[in-house]
Amino acid sequence: MSLTPRWRMATAWLSGCSGCHMSLHDLDEGLLALAVRAEIVYSPIGSDTKVYPERVDVCLVEGAVATTADHTLALTIRQRTRLVVAFGDCALRGNVPALRNLLGAAPADGAAVALDRAYRDLAEPGGAMPAEPALLSVVLPLHRVITVDAVLAGCPPPAAQIAALLERLLP
Ligand code: SF4
Repeated sequence: MSLTPRWRMATAWLSGCSGCHMSLHDLDEGLLALAVRAEIVYSPIGSDTKVYPERVDVCLVEGAVATTADHTLALTIRQRTRLVVAFGDCALRGNVPALRNLLGAAPADGAAVALDRAYRDLAEPGGAMPAEPALLSVVLPLHRVITVDAVLAGCPPPAAQIAALLERLLP
């Protein structure tokens, strides 16, 4: 008897609130069925692996691209993954993290304006600016950085919608 090989599945968390991953948790017993069909090889919620692995079949990517670390991880995911899914409205459209794009500054100054507003004006007037995370000047949806193969809309996408997409993708 030959067993069908399980897909190598990943989930990643760029600049998001983790709500999309919470919605993935809402698959409840569906997670058990998922575990039969897919091995989770990288995820902020199900794996201790710190390095994104090679030969990933599908990755759900939560969050917008807002930092240099997000940008690097997005490129790595694209290089090493067959199917990339923009997971939720932050990945799809920028959504909440992209609100800082509306601060009114020229795009090149966007990160400095956001840090000024968050750290100097509100939290710690006159205080030191944090070195990390290194913000991009503009927050981008995932498709502006890498090619995306499928999308899950919603903030967060409902669990039923996640289940339906995985049902179509997984063998
Ligand atoms: Fe959070 Fe909504 Fe963004 Fe998902 S789409 S990371 S739930 S803000």
